[in-house]
Amino acid sequence: MTSILIAGAGPAGCAAAIGLARRGHRVRLLDRATFPREKACGEGLMPAGVAALGRLGIHVEGVPFQGVRYHHEGRVIEGAFPHRQMGLGIRRLHLDAALLDAARRESNVRVITGVHVEGPIFADNRIAGVRADGEDFRAALTIAADGANSILRHQLGWDASPRTKRHALLGHFPGPPAEWVNVYLDDPQEVYVTPLPGGQRLVAALGEAPHIPPRFGEPIEPVRGAAPLAVRAKQRHAPGCALLGDAAGNCDPITGGGITQALLSAELLAQHIDDLAAFDRAREAMLADYRRLTAGVLTLTKYPALLRPALTVLSHAPGLFSRLLGVAGGNA
Ligand SMILES: Cc1cc2nc3c(=O)[nH]c(=O)nc-3n(C[C@H](O)[C@H](O)[C@H](O)COP(=O)(O)OP(=O)(O)OC[C@H]3O[C@@H](n4cnc5c(N)ncnc54)[C@H](O)[C@@H]3O)c2cc1C
Repeated sequence: MTSILIAGAGPAGCAAAIGLARRGHRVRLLDRATFPREKACGEGLMPAGVAALGRLGIHVEGVPFQGVRYHHEGRVIEGAFPHRQMGLGIRRLHLDAALLDAARRESNVRVITGVHVEGPIFADNRIAGVRADGEDFRAALTIAADGANSILRHQLGWDASPRTKRHALLGHFPGPPAEWVNVYLDDPQEVYVTPLPGGQRLVAALGEAPHIPPRFGEPIEPVRGAAPLAVRAKQRHAPGCALLGDAAGNCDPITGGGITQALLSAELLAQHIDDLAAFDRAREAMLADYRRLTAGVLTLTKYPALLRPALTVLSHAPGLFSRLLGVAGGNA
């Protein structure tokens, strides 16, 4: 049994805590927030993420969607997930609270919320835990799952400077029921619309100067911002510590797989907990196609002259479109 400290109780941290506790490890899970709390996110969970939640035994109310509908210059092109798989539109407010509750139910997990992690502590040339609210929390292994703006990654000197000027605005709006995530490729930004329970939809505008178009009406709550949209880490593990989820580097959310990748990475971490280098190799292999797809989609949105023919090809090749959505959806 290893004593493990996890900083950050988002999807990555909670899923790791549950997976590790079920393998017999003793886990402390720290978060600065008190839950339920909001998180700026497109709120579309891809099919492999839905399956990962199922493996954790977690059920969250959501709106199933069968794929993505792209709107461009008056055309609508539909891509369904392969094998009739379904994604789920979910409020992060509820998903993250359900994950934390599930972690709390594990007898080997101690959850501490409302505590700010300030940085790592060191002993014998290894990372030996974290300092949080002026107190030292020691553990054999520290997992930094503290999100895209990870303070632990920063304090360890593992930040790689972000290369994107893109940011996002997101808000909840009233909306009709829908079975698709709708994506409006409105040069120079993309607008994502995810169906949510309770007659709501999440509208996210992504770009260098995003704005939520007035056609969506008045938001239910104030619109939030999110930046940067892609971060990288120079290093992802060292003796006594590993980065997990967005803290380890993330892709632009244009392909909408961040929560899914966080849940799947947490499963890999639990499998490889005794060999962090093997964990890192397995995660990089899992993410390779997803990263290529995201880079490809971003290039298309940057060059509208390429986007038009690409959408025409996809509209004539539903099988290819479906396979690409499968990659975005978390299929290997
Ligand atoms: C605009 C946008 C749209 C997105 N759309 C989607 C989408 O539709 N589908 C999808 O799957 N993904 C989407 N994502 C990505 C998704 O939100 C992330 O990939 C996912 O939240 C990563 O989970 P995580 O657990 O690694 O980090 P987070 O969810 O960020 O959790 C990190 C946790 O760490 C805590 N924390 C941070 N700092 C500290 C500290 N110093 N001390 C203690 N606790 C701390 C935070 O309170 C938080 O609870 C989107 C992201 C953005 C920005």
